[in-house]
Amino acid sequence: EDLLTVEDIHVFYGNIAAVKGVSLSVKPGEIVTLIGSNGAGKSTTLRTVSGLLRPRTGKITFQGESLVGIPGHKVVAKGICQSPEGRRIFPKMSVEENLELGAFLRNDRAGIAADKERVLDLFPRLKERIGQKAGTMSGGEQQMLAVGRALMGSPKLLLLDEPSMGLAPVLVDLIFDTIRTIRDQGTTVLVVEQNALAALRIGDYAYVLESGHLKQEGVARDMLKDD
Ligand code: ADP
Ligand code: ADP
Repeated sequence: EDLLTVEDIHVFYGNIAAVKGVSLSVKPGEIVTLIGSNGAGKSTTLRTVSGLLRPRTGKITFQGESLVGIPGHKVVAKGICQSPEGRRIFPKMSVEENLELGAFLRNDRAGIAADKERVLDLFPRLKERIGQKAGTMSGGEQQMLAVGRALMGSPKLLLLDEPSMGLAPVLVDLIFDTIRTIRDQGTTVLVVEQNALAALRIGDYAYVLESGHLKQEGVARDMLKDD
């Protein structure tokens, strides 16, 4: 049984088709990666799942319910949270305030407190900087905060857009190890990556996009061998 199913979606910016018939599925407990070069349609696919964009045609089903036409905040309420590409955290706010913003749709105080603990345990660097203004942290730390903020929505499905962008190799390994831990703790992950090698190393299943089309898919480990 799939957690998320995307069936033959077409997504346009004005008259320009950015995604031209992409289908994919995500099973509970997996890390699924979307890879492909710049402009392939990865971010557009992710933004469509998170409700930021609406497909012109095609279906998106989450836990058996259609997501098409549902606004972004309702998608979050259903359990899909996206960490934005780049480092779109709030630079003048503290680490703690940024995390709390990630929980703004929730009203279960105990759950929010527990998830804050969980995020700070996942990212000890954030724990050390809990009161620091986010904008004064390193790029890697801001990237961790962006992932942590998405986790504060208590997602069943975590969407990550290039969590390794611009990071030194040692930090790429660290953030991907943490994504694996997040999966092992029970959160399913759909991650967009340009760094195909890193993505295939952590992914359970991978989809390769090219020019808005699905070019290849398979078990990530097997695709790693083929290269
Ligand atoms: P990515 O390829 O990872 O989406 P980009 O740097 O291409 O990153 O895009 C950054 C922002 O600019 C995104 O919000 C994207 O939607 C927007 N963008 C990208 N391409 C275009 C375009 N051709 N016209 C207008 N906006 C664009
Ligand atoms: P990727 O994430 O694989 O780099 P994107 O999904 O960002 O690819 O982009 C797919 C295509 O859509 C590209 O040709 C890009 O220029 C275009 N595009 C992305 N965002 C916008 C936007 N906001 N407006 C117009 N075109 C866009």
